[in-house]
Amino acid sequence: MSAPSWVLVLDGTACEGHGICALIAPGRVHLDRFGYADVSPTPLRDAAELARARRAVRACPAGALSLTARPGDTRGARRS
Ligand code: SF4
Repeated sequence: MSAPSWVLVLDGTACEGHGICALIAPGRVHLDRFGYADVSPTPLRDAAELARARRAVRACPAGALSLTARPGDTRGARRS
């Protein structure tokens, strides 16, 4: 089994529109026209993106961001 992939997850009900996350992880988070976060649902691509996402999670004053591990891609894995 391969390593899990990580996804940055937003709790839209908790987001208060501070915008800090978009400054820290601009390739992953965008702000909508009201200043609330819009987070890409696709897995983080590499260690640098994961590091920025972790910083965004820690920096969010509302606790609206989290990281979730998804099981690794097992396509091509041998069956026994
Ligand atoms: S830092 Fe937190 S509260 Fe502010 S926009 Fe981002 S997710 Fe929302």
